[in-house]
Amino acid sequence: MIAPNRYAEWLSQLVQMPSVNPTQAGPHSGPPGEGYLAAHLVEWFKQFGAEVHVEDVHPGRPNVYGLWRGQTDRWIAVDVHIDTVGVEQMNDDRFSGRIANGRVYGRGAVDTKASLGVILALLEAMHQHDLTPQANLLIAATVDEENGAQSAPIFARWLRRQQIPLSQLIIAEPTLCCPVYGHKGGIRFEFTVTGQASHSSTPQLGQNAVTAAAHLVLALDQEDQRIQALPPHPELGTSTMTVTIIHGGTGSNVVPDSCQIYAGWRSVPGDDVAEITARIQALAEHSCPLPVSMTVLGSIEPFYQSPDTAWLRQLAEWSGFKPTIAPYATNAWAHSGQPYECVVLGPGSIDQAHRAEEWVEISELEKLARIYTHWWGL
Ligand SMILES: [Zn+2]
Repeated sequence: MIAPNRYAEWLSQLVQMPSVNPTQAGPHSGPPGEGYLAAHLVEWFKQFGAEVHVEDVHPGRPNVYGLWRGQTDRWIAVDVHIDTVGVEQMNDDRFSGRIANGRVYGRGAVDTKASLGVILALLEAMHQHDLTPQANLLIAATVDEENGAQSAPIFARWLRRQQIPLSQLIIAEPTLCCPVYGHKGGIRFEFTVTGQASHSSTPQLGQNAVTAAAHLVLALDQEDQRIQALPPHPELGTSTMTVTIIHGGTGSNVVPDSCQIYAGWRSVPGDDVAEITARIQALAEHSCPLPVSMTVLGSIEPFYQSPDTAWLRQLAEWSGFKPTIAPYATNAWAHSGQPYECVVLGPGSIDQAHRAEEWVEISELEKLARIYTHWWGL
């Protein structure tokens, strides 16, 4: 019922509407933010017969929710983020939406406007052919994912406020259409060690913040070794702790008075954020010979759902892939412990995401369309 090129045409149009996350905006990113694309989605959703709700997440950057009534009381949903990463390091295909070589090119082509393009082509066809999905269908076009997925709980809270009795949710991300049922969470820490500056010829008059911070770095590394020796989660493995950035010093002949360290804890089910935060705070104060302050920059929960369900078996059959876990985190983290099933699934490979050249195979769009057609009962 849909010409194969229709998916690519929709995707091409979406890529041509810049929606760079403002945290990654630069001179080439066009009008930053998702507002322009969100406004078009409101119109398209209405045109295709949806009841539309708009929820401002940041000023001018709303989540757009489209609801299509089905033939049963069941509810199914897709969360598809509409922001993209930055484009400054990209070639001329930034927002070209070029269709060539069986691919669609440009920022967001694979991450993750591909899923949205397929959804719009299907909604358009449903409207043209007067088709009703089996279950009630909710499409959540969400903003601000490429910023550590910190806005993910906003859609989860909206679902609860609306009292929508959801049974199945797909988080759209490039998985080659393989169903993903788990990934680690994370906690990001920033530490500032405070010393005292002096001429490096008289170091006894200063307090060296970099040397003190080195003690903390080694303590965090020991903590990593400790947690990696704990019994692992059967599929997600153990938690890890990694120091990622160290900044300090003002001149080659000055005793440094300040040093910043960034570190990330990758968490598995059972990790308690408050407990870990208290533990790392104590470790920092104990290991560092100078005053140290610690800030939690952000945290997300690990995501895990049993692969042994009827829906996962169906998705495996429709996709041709055995369900698996992912090394990266997604919006799925905000749906842990909810009464509905949640799976990450979308066309194209994560290997093509966030790169100087981004593209998706049109055959992947067609594969997703087949999976959604089964799932929506069209
Ligand atoms: Zn994404």
